[in-house]
Amino acid sequence: MITRDNGRVAIIDAGTGIRQLGIDLVKNGFHQNELFIGFTHFHWDHIQGFPFFEPAYDPNMVINILAMGKDSEIKNLEEIFKGQMKPEYFPVPLQNMGAKFNFLQLEQNVLDIKGAKVKVIKQNHPGVSFGYRLEDQGKSFVFCTDIEHGNSVQQDIVDFCKNADLLVHEAQYTTEQLKTNSGRGHSSYDQAIEVAERAGAKKLIITHHDPGHDDAFLTEREKECQKRFSNCVFARDRMEITI
Ligand SMILES: [Zn+2]
Ligand SMILES: [Zn+2]
Repeated sequence: MITRDNGRVAIIDAGTGIRQLGIDLVKNGFHQNELFIGFTHFHWDHIQGFPFFEPAYDPNMVINILAMGKDSEIKNLEEIFKGQMKPEYFPVPLQNMGAKFNFLQLEQNVLDIKGAKVKVIKQNHPGVSFGYRLEDQGKSFVFCTDIEHGNSVQQDIVDFCKNADLLVHEAQYTTEQLKTNSGRGHSSYDQAIEVAERAGAKKLIITHHDPGHDDAFLTEREKECQKRFSNCVFARDRMEITI
């Protein structure tokens, strides 16, 4: 995510997509002394791109790993990243990457960074996850992934997404599939749309596709979702959106 005032890059999560982001940043000659990566949670699909993030190999770079939110269940943030880069799993240990890392674990749900407001909300997900809301210069972006609403959409999440210019909400399942996958921590397409509708979000991106759903299946679901919420798009690799 690039903020408009000063072109600074802020990143949420480090799934496999962060590899290409790092390559693009280096290729474009982008330089920022300090980067923030905020994490929703630390399941594999949200951290496994990190060892392949090129800017983390730059000795002039400071990378702040940020986990926010009251009642998070993280015991040792640094250990999570060190752990996935042990010699059994990866050839380069974290401390040899090059960049300077700061591991910031904040027991708060709201943060002010130079006028930009970052808010988080605790979400129902195995091991707990946090949704992020960023507000800057009158625009708002909300990112709610790895969330299981249960039988009905949760009002606190709807409130959190209120009037978002851009809402990225996950949906891994159809309503039918959700019935046999409860407890796995995910939502249905209908629930993502319901959140967007009730919150009055201007645009909805549906993300966290099920690995078993191919492009043809997702394209069909996307068309169905657009019939109900016209400004809805399914997330694709390397997607860029301006708000
Ligand atoms: Zn998860
Ligand atoms: Zn996930």
